[in-house]
Amino acid sequence: MLLLCSVGLLRKISFSLEWQFCGLGTLALRELETRHPDLTWYTTGQYEPAQGFYERYRHSSHSPWTDEQHPCPHF
Ligand SMILES: [Zn+2]
Repeated sequence: MLLLCSVGLLRKISFSLEWQFCGLGTLALRELETRHPDLTWYTTGQYEPAQGFYERYRHSSHSPWTDEQHPCPHF
């Protein structure tokens, strides 16, 4: 029997400069959360350019921060 931990990890995601600030990142993460509503998507410390994005994104998402690079042993 497969036991699912329900932990997802958003780790070091980046878009090239020409694709930033156009809503694509938010759209992509929304789609991920919509497709996998049973998972909790943890966010690690991101690359500095993405930190502002995640701060804004989390205003409308429950994706929690984690200091752990491996919030679940399966990573
Ligand atoms: Zn796991």
